[in-house]
Amino acid sequence: MDIEEFRSVGHELIDWVADYMVNIERYPVSSPLEPGRVREKIPLLAPENGEPMEHILTDFQDIIMPGITHWQHPGWFAYFPANSSPPSVLAELLTAGIGAQCMIWKTSPAAAELEERMMEWLRDMLGLPGGMTGVIQDTASTSTLVALLSARERATDFGANREGAIAPLVVYASREAHSSVEKGAKIAGFGTNRIRRIPTDDDYAMIPGKLSETMEQDRRSGLLPACVVATMGTTSSCAVDPLGAIGEICRTEGTWLHVDAAFAGSALVCPEMRWMMNGMEQVDSFVFNPHKWMLTNFDCSAYFVRDPEHLVRTFEINPEYLRTSVDSEVRNYRDWGIQLGRRFRALKLWFVLRSYGVEGLRRMVRAHLRWASMFEEWVKADPRFELMASVKLSLVCFRLCDGRTEMELNHLNEEFLEAVNASGRILLTHTTLDGKYCLRMVIGSRTTGERHVRDAWERIRTAADEVLEALGKGTRFDSLARQRSRHAASAP
Ligand code: PLP
Repeated sequence: MDIEEFRSVGHELIDWVADYMVNIERYPVSSPLEPGRVREKIPLLAPENGEPMEHILTDFQDIIMPGITHWQHPGWFAYFPANSSPPSVLAELLTAGIGAQCMIWKTSPAAAELEERMMEWLRDMLGLPGGMTGVIQDTASTSTLVALLSARERATDFGANREGAIAPLVVYASREAHSSVEKGAKIAGFGTNRIRRIPTDDDYAMIPGKLSETMEQDRRSGLLPACVVATMGTTSSCAVDPLGAIGEICRTEGTWLHVDAAFAGSALVCPEMRWMMNGMEQVDSFVFNPHKWMLTNFDCSAYFVRDPEHLVRTFEINPEYLRTSVDSEVRNYRDWGIQLGRRFRALKLWFVLRSYGVEGLRRMVRAHLRWASMFEEWVKADPRFELMASVKLSLVCFRLCDGRTEMELNHLNEEFLEAVNASGRILLTHTTLDGKYCLRMVIGSRTTGERHVRDAWERIRTAADEVLEALGKGTRFDSLARQRSRHAASAP
């Protein structure tokens, strides 16, 4: 591709992205494609000779777009959001255009120094303790793995790094903690049998008394409590573990305390949400994802630590070919995590923070929180529904509940979720709380406005009418599902 063609196609593609943003509501939120439908349209082998861009773009429209699930859709109420935003997209374009690989300061001083400053901005915006400093990782999963590795090294005085020694170390997290804790504990060599899932209270938050009892038992058995992962905003219901009490226990035990605030951390821009971080001064590491609720394209995960020297000592490696004359004066972020090669992620954060300002981000978070409480009230006021967890942030867990057995209710609500999503206008996902299947309504998309939330509620109520009416007429769950799959098969 020559540069003039790049220039003209590039302008067209910016127009395409702008049109996509304007028209996104016209797409079904979730791709209706069945497995294999994209793969079968892509040749088995790469082309021997280059093809014109025109053909590639036609195939993009015809093959790729039908298989896209539209995460930026205003009807996105699923999982947690992965918000992008126009300034972030522009920064990503520049990042791709520059194509710098930012493994050390020398390989792009601006990337290293901007990252340093962005982490200070984020720390102060969220009200984190002044001594904390940090690094941008790809995801919260990686950040939690980095925390677990750091904890392992602290517990063994760097013995695991040095000897490969597998000391009898234990990790603690609540029953509601994210699966990345288990994955990280496996990778970091703790072993799945050494993860203790601590019981939770009625709000699905970790019970500190149970944590200290379990730690005591482990100590008596000759095991070493190495790390506690507390969650600020659990994936299922946005429960918030009590950091103050957990931090006290960790301090007494000398145990590393990591906080996973992947989604909820962004809400700390609002001072009224800082009750979630009471006890933060006891925390060793903290992660949140600007790529979830802070309008910064995936991937961008902000990982903060209290002791950067410990972090660097855990990961540092010093091959001759990476040494530079300024190493003692600068931050080489290659030593702040797992990977060597690094994307220039700070640029999109800089564009986003300057473009929206902290107040702009606060306004968005507050609107989402307000609409979630409005939605909560609607659920409470309709006797067909049951609210499944107290609403702490912008996630409402609820289900249909009409006096059936728990097993039947689980089937009913699976069917209900299918009916809610069938229109393609909104997408919700589910979880289980205490074994009870329920729907999660997450309000966190940049493009969502109050009218979309009202519209979603109408669709949810209509779906409830449909499902209950069909079952009232004696239709069985399995035939409802068959009807729905026939309907999906005939969709365009
Ligand atoms: N932690 C929590 C609480 C989450 O909800 C999620 C994802 O939703 C993660 C960690 C994983 O995030 P990532 O995809 O950045 O690894």
